[in-house]
Amino acid sequence: MKKLLTTIYLVLFALTATAQDTTILNKMRRIERESSQVERYSYLLLDLAGSRLAGSDGAERGYKIAREAMAAMGLSNARVEFARRWHRGGFDIEKSYAAMSVPYYQPFFPAIVGWTGGTEGLRRGEVIVIDDVDSTTFANKYRGKLEGKIVLMPSRATYAMNFSTPSATRISDENLEKLAAAPTPEPTAMQRRNRPPQQRLIDWVRAENPLAVVNCSGDFNNPGVTFFNHQQGDKPIAPEFNLAVESYGLMKRLVENGERVVMELDFKTRFTGNRPINNVVAEIEGTDLKDELVIIGGHIDSYHLSPGAGDDAAGCIVMMEAMRLLKEAGVKPRRTIRIVLWGGEEMGLHGSAGYVEQFVGRRDAPLKEHSKISCYINSDYGPGKFRGIYTQANEAAYPIFATWLAPFKNDGCSTVSNLSVGSTDHISFDIAGIPAFQFISDNLEWGRASHRVTDFADRMIYADTKHNALVVAWLAYCAAMSDEKMPRK
Ligand SMILES: [Zn+2]
Repeated sequence: MKKLLTTIYLVLFALTATAQDTTILNKMRRIERESSQVERYSYLLLDLAGSRLAGSDGAERGYKIAREAMAAMGLSNARVEFARRWHRGGFDIEKSYAAMSVPYYQPFFPAIVGWTGGTEGLRRGEVIVIDDVDSTTFANKYRGKLEGKIVLMPSRATYAMNFSTPSATRISDENLEKLAAAPTPEPTAMQRRNRPPQQRLIDWVRAENPLAVVNCSGDFNNPGVTFFNHQQGDKPIAPEFNLAVESYGLMKRLVENGERVVMELDFKTRFTGNRPINNVVAEIEGTDLKDELVIIGGHIDSYHLSPGAGDDAAGCIVMMEAMRLLKEAGVKPRRTIRIVLWGGEEMGLHGSAGYVEQFVGRRDAPLKEHSKISCYINSDYGPGKFRGIYTQANEAAYPIFATWLAPFKNDGCSTVSNLSVGSTDHISFDIAGIPAFQFISDNLEWGRASHRVTDFADRMIYADTKHNALVVAWLAYCAAMSDEKMPRK
């Protein structure tokens, strides 16, 4: 009998809660349908701010534009906040031109390696292809012979014909079920990305004073985008750039067949000192639990050469629109809901790590916010539709999210998975012992666009963005209103 009463009580409680909550959700759904701002925020962050490499002029534009948009939607304390010093400083490209001029003229699409120098005007140089050799062979074969040359670094990359795999996919019901049933991995914090040690061959080449160094990266004449680990105050190294396999392969075959190949280059790059990595922060202040926090975010920085639509302006737009929905709906949350758009994620999670260092601390050395944060919710897996959420091996969060996401069952977004995923800003919180989550989302051309020169606003599917904003607004609302903070691992 007692059990029956408990069951009835729980059912009634659930019904009451659902009835009350659904009113807010329906209200936000209507606001999103009638006055969505996702296309406006997309225009601001992508087209108006441009690419937002950590420390660049574009990053500064992004901070300013995002802060102004947050203030304009009526959020409290909209601010650009220091996260971390940035040892490379600022880097901006002012001119980029590369072509083959001998044996005939062929224009190329170069991706300048971040934090490498310019050519100081139009320069021509002979193209040399070098082999992957040890230091002795390098000394015998190449020492003293690369000065003023354009050096093609070794590459075995080939063009891979795609016969079967679509570049964008929706997650099937079957795969969603597999995710929901996946066993919980060991509840250890994910490690940050390990970067491979730098290839030594390139250091030997750099020491030879070449005119430029060319790497092979990417296909579809869509070069990969990479960086040199410049130290602020050092003299910039000679220009380096990436060419996709088609352009690289053309010159390599010509050289290997005995043709003399000449390129002409005109690169101008600019280094700016003392550009810290910042975050953009704003709040909807809480009421009876206003010292406690629900934090939502994505990263505002991108690579250079494209503005990072899917990676991760999409996440920032979703978070900004979620805050606007909550504000427009007149929500008075119990806990404070804070949006943070992180700087410097692409360079090693600097924005979120800097935030955690300053305000959260570690499990064994907690700072002011450590006991106050209920959870952190992140979006950084591209512009695709959210289909559910990963608990990051936090099993106690599973039934909570299952309940909160139930109203999105008909929208195909109610899956909860105990899997742990990387490697973005939720990891900074996870390491600190704060419940931190990342969404399960459809893959919209992640491989073809992320960290490439093609990640522009055209890749946004705004119906997905609107759905995602509504999901985030709802989860933030639920987390801000519930009696208990999110359980910890
Ligand atoms: Zn990202």
